[in-house]
Parts: sequence; structure tokens; C-alpha cells
Amino acid sequence: MNGTAGIRPLWLVIGASLWMATIGNAALWGEMRAHEALQGPAGWAFGAGLALMVAACLSAILSLLAWRWTLKPALILLLAACAAATHFMLAYHVVIDSSMVVNVLQTDTHEALALFDWHLLATLGLLGLLPAAAVWRIRVRHGGWPAQAGRNLAMLAASLALAALLALLSFQPLSSTMRNHKQLRYLINPLNTIYALGHAASKPLRRPPGVAVLGADAHVPDGRSRPPLLVLVLGETGRSGNFGVNGYDRPTTPELERHGVASALHATSCGTSTAASVPCMFSHLGRNGFDGRDRDYETLMDVLQHAGLAVLWIDNQSGCKGVCDRIPHVDTAALNHPHLCAAGQCLDGIMLEGLDQRLAALPPERVARGVVLVMHQMGSHGPAYHLRSPPAFKKFLPECTSANLQDCSRAELVNAYDNSIAYTDHVLGSTIDWLERQQGFDTAMLYVADHGESLGENNLYLHGMPFSIAPEVQKHVPWITWLSPGFEQRSGIATECLRGRRDLPLTHDNYFHAVLGLMQVSTAVYDRQLDAYAPCAAH
Ligand SMILES: [Zn+2]
Repeated sequence: MNGTAGIRPLWLVIGASLWMATIGNAALWGEMRAHEALQGPAGWAFGAGLALMVAACLSAILSLLAWRWTLKPALILLLAACAAATHFMLAYHVVIDSSMVVNVLQTDTHEALALFDWHLLATLGLLGLLPAAAVWRIRVRHGGWPAQAGRNLAMLAASLALAALLALLSFQPLSSTMRNHKQLRYLINPLNTIYALGHAASKPLRRPPGVAVLGADAHVPDGRSRPPLLVLVLGETGRSGNFGVNGYDRPTTPELERHGVASALHATSCGTSTAASVPCMFSHLGRNGFDGRDRDYETLMDVLQHAGLAVLWIDNQSGCKGVCDRIPHVDTAALNHPHLCAAGQCLDGIMLEGLDQRLAALPPERVARGVVLVMHQMGSHGPAYHLRSPPAFKKFLPECTSANLQDCSRAELVNAYDNSIAYTDHVLGSTIDWLERQQGFDTAMLYVADHGESLGENNLYLHGMPFSIAPEVQKHVPWITWLSPGFEQRSGIATECLRGRRDLPLTHDNYFHAVLGLMQVSTAVYDRQLDAYAPCAAH
């Protein structure tokens, strides 16, 4: 690498920046074309200006890294991020923001493998591997460090000046395009990933250390002869509109209907991804007070535990996102059940296995006050919807069996998704059957999903769009309640009353207080105004 052979780092930076700004932004250019932002000579000029601006920003960032030992690794990482993001933006029409990056970082290997297919390999190879190999092979002539420092500084100044000049020249079309199509800013590769990583990484710094105790004053009424037993089924990727019980024109939920549940038709999620919604649902802060503060406070599960209740979190997914850290929790993935589990993933029926023993193993003095079991579903986790239902529940055929959703017709995709809802219906029905057998308890079940899903509407797939621009189907979630006669009597909440209120709006903000209300927990953090059931409770 020494001597006079090879090119100056500057040229490598310029070449790679131009490559990423143009070819590496296929998703951005496609989306802008679809919104007719690249039409006519003015449109083309705007596109070229934007590409140059992106290249200038990239070379500004790279000028800080243009040293002998950092330039090539930085370039290779950026090219890989650019290629991976392009694949997901093109294949699923997702955008890259900080919650998407957090999702990726929290994904386990099984979820990652489900996304793996030949399209991904091809995009990674063409857009990532090929230019990365070129970068690796090109000989670069770095000078001594004082000279290199001078050149890097000059490159930084020139890049910033160019970016500023271009922004000024294209201010009018730039600001109106970005205002009208907010999602475009999340498509600018690889600046979107750099920004999102920075935002996610700075989160712990913005947070005070430690977790504040929540609801230390929580308690339940003394002397309960029959304790309440509540199962909270935390749903995954549930689209309210695909539930037969909510008026869908396909019979996806016969068991829920047979059990006479009450379903709220207009429930809205807190976020559009598991990592955003789950902590928010179990937080007292609500959607507006929530951003970035999810680990500052204990959760609903801690409050229930402070109240002296027996609690247990059963997880059939990639973890509880910090919600169950301080309470007893079990992970089903390790169970290796011969029929329900394969390749480290289990069907949701696994959570019903051995439930009697799990209940019997809880501390008896707590059980006497009441029990809350959480079942965190795999639900309808995509894109491999077909893996979420066993053969006996595949009512809607043919179904999509590819992780690359665009390989399937819309009808096959919806079939695979609806089969997963039909299986969820069976799991919920079986849970109610189990609760009906618990003679010593007044029993109830509450099923609420964490977020919805896009199934190809407007060419959008999966979930995780920034909340402000996410389509309704990603935010509209099922909220389904079943109460045993004993539970209705003790709480004064009649299922009929809940049915009468089915058209009133609910949000995940109501979840925390609704659960405390159902369990008759008294604490200063309970807000009766937000308790979804309070208007039906007879006291
Ligand atoms: Zn989710």
C-alpha cells in the first residue's frame, strides 16, 4: 500500500459517494418517480441536484474517516447498509428510521432467517458486495498524517459548501417535496441508516440512569374468597379488520364468536412495531409522554406485582422488550415440543401446554389475591405468515409460502394472513376453554394486538412505518374481551355493556388502566378516566 502507486483517498470518497447517491438510492428514485417529482427538465434537474447533495453529505462524513485504517472499513459498512436498506425498501416498501433500526437490532436469528431469500442475496451482491470488493482492491495512497489531515479538512469544507449551495439552489422544490411526501426523507440511503443509528444510540445518553419504581402503593381488596384470574394475550401483528368478529366477510374467528366475546371496533395502537408498541402498552406514560422514556419507569407488570398478585409472563416471541424484566417470565422457544415447535420457533398453542402446572407453581399467598398471566404471541408475525398456522387451520387456500411477498398474488398473501388469524382464534378459544375449567377462580381474558399490518395496500407490506405517516391498517388493532359470569359479577362489568360501547374509540393508552381496573388494583398511578372498562363497572 506504500509508495507512489494508487489513488488519493479523495477520489475513492468521491467515487463511492456518487455510487451510493445514484445507484444505491434506487428506492428513493423509484418512489420520487411514482410521486411524479422527477418529471420534465425541472424534475430531472431537481433529481440531479438532490443526488449531488446526498453525495456531498456522504463525502463530508467520509472526509472525517479518510485515514489509512478507517477509510475502507467505513466505505464497506456504508455500502452494505445501503444495499440491505435498498432491498427492504424495494421488497417491502418499509422506510428506515430509528424504530426500524431498533427492530433490526432486536431481531433474533429466526426472524432474520425468515427475511432471507434470493432477492436479498442478489441485491446485497450487486449493490453491496461488488462495490465493496472494488473498494477493497483499489490501492489508496495515503500521505503522512499532517498532509492527510489538511486534505481531509479541505474535503470536509468543500463538501459542506457544495451541499449548502445545492440546498439553497433547490430550496423551493426540495422543501415542498419533503413536506408533501414525508416518507422520502427516510429513503435517502445510507444517510437514513446513519441518522437512525445515531438517534437510537444516543437514547441511553438522554435517559437518567436507573428505573423509577411505579405504583409502590398498589394493593387489592382483602379477603377475596374466589381470586380473579386474568389472561392477557398480547397479540402480534393483528389487523382489526381481518377478524370475523369485527365484521370481516370471512369466517376467521368462529371460536371467539361462539364464546360470546365483546370486541372494540376502533382500537388504535401506540406504535407500528413491536419494539415501540409493547413497552408503550405496559407503560403509564401513554403515547404522548412516552417517546424515549420507556426504560425510565417500571411497567404495568411491576405494579401488578407490587399489588401482591401472582404474575407470570409466557413469551413465544423474541422477548418482552424490557416489560417483564423484574417479574417471573418463561420463554417457550426452548421447549422443543415435537408437534408445536420446529427450527427453534413454536406455534402459539405451545403457551397452553403445561398451563395447569405453571398456575400450580405460582406462590400460593399471591395466588389467593389474584393471578395475571401474559401470553406474548407469535401471532401473525410476517413476512412468513404461512408458518403461523398448522395444516389443520389452513382454511383459505392457496396461500403464499414465500418470504418475498411480491412473489405471491394479493389473494394468496391475504389467505396466508387470514389462516394465521384463524389459528389465533383457535388459541384464544382454547384459552377461554382452559379458563372455564379453573373452578377456583373468577376468570377473564383480554386480547389486544401490538400493531396492525400492511398486506399490499398501495404496494405497502409489513409494518413499522413512522406513526405519523403510517396507513390506518398498521395502527388499527383488535381489542377483545371475554368475561366469565363470575368475573362479570365480581367486577360489575357486563359483557352486554361492553358490546354497547363497541363503536367508541380506544387506544393503547387505555390498556394500562384497563388491566389495573379489571384486577381491582388501587394505586395513585391508576387513572379511572383512562380505564376502558370503568364506564361499564357498577361502582
Ligand atoms: Zn409486533
